[in-house]
Amino acid sequence: DLHNLFIDTGYGKNNFRDKNLEDSEIKPIQILFIDDNEDEYLIICRLLSEVISHYKIKYIKDFNMGLEEITQNNYNVCLLDYRLGAFTGIDFIKEAVLRLCNTPIILLTGHGDHEIDVAAMKAGASDFLDKGMLSSNILERTIRYALERKKSEEKIKYLAYYDQLTNLPNRTLFLDRIRVAISSAKRHNRIFAVLFIDIDNFKFINDTLGHSMGDKLIIEAAGRFLKCIRHGDTLGRGENTTSLDTVARMGGDEFTILLSEIKESENASKVAERIQKTLLAPIILDKKSINVTISIGIAIFPVDGDNIETIIKHADIAMYNAKSMGKNTFQYYNHTMNVSALKRLTLEHDLRKAIDENQLCVFYQPIVDAKTRKIVELEALLRWRHPSKGMISPMNFIPVAEENGMIIQIGE
Ligand code: GH3
Ligand code: MG
Repeated sequence: DLHNLFIDTGYGKNNFRDKNLEDSEIKPIQILFIDDNEDEYLIICRLLSEVISHYKIKYIKDFNMGLEEITQNNYNVCLLDYRLGAFTGIDFIKEAVLRLCNTPIILLTGHGDHEIDVAAMKAGASDFLDKGMLSSNILERTIRYALERKKSEEKIKYLAYYDQLTNLPNRTLFLDRIRVAISSAKRHNRIFAVLFIDIDNFKFINDTLGHSMGDKLIIEAAGRFLKCIRHGDTLGRGENTTSLDTVARMGGDEFTILLSEIKESENASKVAERIQKTLLAPIILDKKSINVTISIGIAIFPVDGDNIETIIKHADIAMYNAKSMGKNTFQYYNHTMNVSALKRLTLEHDLRKAIDENQLCVFYQPIVDAKTRKIVELEALLRWRHPSKGMISPMNFIPVAEENGMIIQIGE
């Protein structure tokens, strides 16, 4: 599973945004050169010195030491010879990929080894160079292309896996984290928690202060959530483990948090409390002080769901329940919520149909003037004639219609 994991540093900007052109122009290019033949190292040094002014080269002879070095991901590019004692460069590349190496690797091959070239690219090499045709210009060009390609790959990954507004992982990356968390939890017989967060009355902030202020608020809230899990969240965490804890933006004013290693489900509520506390200090936007509250739903793997979809759905349902309890609170999922959520979903579905099929009607209730005994006004009352359930009380469906916006259509 680790092979498919796209490693990030929490905040996407550390990953790719900061490493812009300006940086690489000032900083020397860090090159790792792996070859068991020292003469070739000297040749490469000479060629490089003719074309690249700022570079640092680290020479390593040994296969295993090379692997250890490259998995640190401290180099901009790696030049790798095909012949490495008993092993080949392709063995090396395969192993490096398994160890999540993200350094571009350029394989140096003998003249006319076309099959090796193809195999190298398949294994994950960034490019290959025919040693027989090596010149300083070709070397420089190949390195430059490998660096550029890496940059655009990182940009694509960033666009695909991160939310542009907050730089937090997006829904896709979050789902992937859950996938990894599930297999890790199964393997080690552990539990984990998913928190589903939704800002309370966010529409009001948008409506009164404007959409761009709403955006700023989302950014500020995201930063505060991140601090809650980043610094010393060691609640019941096992030792010697790589944490997958993630704060993600699912869209709109919805966020999710993965607490990947909790000892007992109660630990999740401690984090939920911490997150709520972090919003006690008002958010200052344009000199206006805004108090924000959130509602949180918590679902625990595997009791509340043993697959990606269910665990998230149940955290969402629990969040919804927190909203219906008056907001600014958190709720653990329990299966009775499912029943009421299902009921509500059916009601919403039926109501949509009711509007289309004209099942809603108006009853007029006369208002009589007690003095003149004449009808002076009529009160219009909404009724729903359900084809199978009979008359449904407005008490049951108007709150739902108000919440999901259907009330406007109904009013019309
Ligand atoms: P509740 O307390 O029930 O959560 O109500 P709410 O007002 O927060 O509304 P809800 O969570 O249902 O909807 C979130 C709103 O957020 C809907 C949409 O107008 C707004 N929104 C969605 N995406 C963005 C965004 O990127 N920026 C801004 N400023 N607003 C957004
Ligand atoms: Mg909301």
